[in-house]
Amino acid sequence: MTDAMNDTTGAEGSRTGPTVSCDVVVVGAGPAGSAAATVLAEAGRDVVVLERERFPRYCLGESLIPHCWYPLERLGLADRLASTGFVVPKHSVQFVNTAGVRSKPFYFFQHSDHPAMLAWQVVRSHFDELLATNAAEKGARLLFETTATDLLRDDGRVVGVRARTADGTTFEVRAPATIDASGRRAFGQHSNRWREPDGKMRKVALWTYYKGAMRDPGRDEGATTIAYLPEKGWFWYIPQTDDTVSVGIVADPEYLFRETREARAIFEREVETQPWIRDHLAVGTNLHLYQVTHDLSYRSRHCASDGLVLVGDAFSFLDPVFSAGVYLALQSGVLAADAVDAALDAGDVSAARFSPYGVRVCREIEAMRALVFAFYDPDFHFSTFLKAHPDLHHDLTDCLIGNLDRDFTALTAALGQFADLPEPIPYGAPAT
Ligand SMILES: Cc1cc2nc3c(=O)[nH]c(=O)nc-3n(C[C@H](O)[C@H](O)[C@H](O)COP(=O)(O)OP(=O)(O)OC[C@H]3O[C@@H](n4cnc5c(N)ncnc54)[C@H](O)[C@@H]3O)c2cc1C
Repeated sequence: MTDAMNDTTGAEGSRTGPTVSCDVVVVGAGPAGSAAATVLAEAGRDVVVLERERFPRYCLGESLIPHCWYPLERLGLADRLASTGFVVPKHSVQFVNTAGVRSKPFYFFQHSDHPAMLAWQVVRSHFDELLATNAAEKGARLLFETTATDLLRDDGRVVGVRARTADGTTFEVRAPATIDASGRRAFGQHSNRWREPDGKMRKVALWTYYKGAMRDPGRDEGATTIAYLPEKGWFWYIPQTDDTVSVGIVADPEYLFRETREARAIFEREVETQPWIRDHLAVGTNLHLYQVTHDLSYRSRHCASDGLVLVGDAFSFLDPVFSAGVYLALQSGVLAADAVDAALDAGDVSAARFSPYGVRVCREIEAMRALVFAFYDPDFHFSTFLKAHPDLHHDLTDCLIGNLDRDFTALTAALGQFADLPEPIPYGAPAT
């Protein structure tokens, strides 16, 4: 592809490369973009993927839920994951109360004996590189260190993007369909002013890494632990390869920043309030990298417009407490790719064609969103809920493992007896 960049120098010294034409341009090579590109390339489409970073690149979001298996299987990667060197088997998720007492883990294999029930903790730089390489092997053209800067429009319809390479060369990629998979940078949302925060969910995340921290014994070694803080903040504790643990806090900004905004001081203060986390980290060494992100949850006003479809975090971000992000990215990438492929066959990539896609993705997000709001409700506790509704154990587990394409009416109604649940977000349909 670099060969195609026989630059010409513009009037003001900026270089302009030749226009690239293809069937589909994908912005971003994270899980959503690589999944979409793989499916479309396998369908024989000419796909160009623009990725602003050079891979492997760091990314957060290391705990996969069991139903990631299904889109990974579609991409031909479900079995390959086990033999890579960057995964830790994850058999369960466990909760720890504010006193540091661990509840009985939710073991996925108790739910079903399907291979999907063995989930993974992954190092995202390697996981995402595997997905992107797979897309390239299937025939997608990947351009790294190339940033999409503007949507190209023709009479209101998106007809591709303008892009810029690391050396400042700009060029156009023209395609009947554009898939925005740019993650939380949300290129399409910002270009269209579609970003909408999710009401009260303006949480902050602060995280770091430890080496040599304690792991639970046996099959609990790779468990994701969610350890509560006062006022419904929580720690995540995600064991990774190389004896490393990803550990972070999600909480309201008023709680987290009540004394200081210094990330390390906040982290150390909160560790002292949570005995399970304190004890597990005590034997480890902090890797001295603290990162913070604000205003976690949002959804785009629209999932598509004429010629444009949004996938993964570029469409919507759900609070990370149940680790659904990579699943939703992979799943929406696959679903959008199928919709784009059918639209190209029909010679009609108008927004309305992506209505079923938007309905399906929003329905899956809403199923888990109800559980997220219940989790944060001061009156909600899993143990009390399950004592009152033992018949809903299966539904609750389905939600936690990401089996989201089913009817959760009974679960949502019962959750509503214990927690103040929001109405489903009324937007996310295509802009018609
Ligand atoms: C605090 C926190 C904890 C989380 N924990 C988990 C977890 O445990 N499990 C889980 O499943 N998920 C988790 N997530 C969510 C997960 O990280 C995301 O949902 C997932 O990475 C989304 O994948 P994506 O492909 O949509 O976006 P990304 O993985 O962000 O990929 C987007 C790609 O687009 C590229 N890009 C951006 N803009 C442009 C542009 N203009 N041009 C070209 N390229 C561009 C970026 O460089 C990036 O490579 C967490 C998120 C947060 C914030």
